[in-house]
Amino acid sequence: MSFDDLGLSPEVLRAIAEVGYREPTPIQAQAIPIVQMGRDVLGCAQTGTGKTASFTLPMIDILASGRARARMPRSLILEPTRELAAQVAENFDLYGKYHKLSQALLIGGESFADQEKKLDRGVDVLIATPGRLIDLFERGKILMSDVKILVIDEADRMLDMGFIPDVERIVSLLPKIRQTLFFSATMPPEIKRLADAFLMNPKEISV
Ligand code: AMP
Repeated sequence: MSFDDLGLSPEVLRAIAEVGYREPTPIQAQAIPIVQMGRDVLGCAQTGTGKTASFTLPMIDILASGRARARMPRSLILEPTRELAAQVAENFDLYGKYHKLSQALLIGGESFADQEKKLDRGVDVLIATPGRLIDLFERGKILMSDVKILVIDEADRMLDMGFIPDVERIVSLLPKIRQTLFFSATMPPEIKRLADAFLMNPKEISV
């Protein structure tokens, strides 16, 4: 299996060739076609498996192929920690460098002013930790009515950190018609319950 077999755009293929990836990891080979189809994904995978590219690469192509209206965010990626969110944002910029897309990294410990300025200019993707996203929403800075792809990453860590009520609230603010990609390293009953609530007929992937 090579990246060329996955139906990714020339822009994304060029970017990953430059990063030095030679072939897709197992989760990438399995998840990318499912995400491209528009289906929900329930992925059981740890960090280090190439999980981030498995959702960001097809997402970049989906976003690049659709016309943004008023540059309202069309995707939301939720991460449990600032560090993970920052890494995902870095990867998004790297993989998406030949498409003109923009992201906002919305994490605690940074000034509201810079994040709000970015949001005012309009972005394609929000990459956020739950607490800061809710704070910005309550300040009236975020509209999520155009979000068509939701990623909940590291759901079991969200649970350990007590973020599930925040995540449930955020999901309740999103359009019901959307694609949802849900990843967790483990699937305890509470995580299964959430996956059942958030996903519609998901394809299950385990690596
Ligand atoms: P992740 O599981 O998303 O945190 O990725 C773990 C590491 O694997 C990151 O440093 C990525 O840059 C790297 N990586 C992701 N996909 C590939 C690939 N297909 N080939 C080589 N390295 C990769």
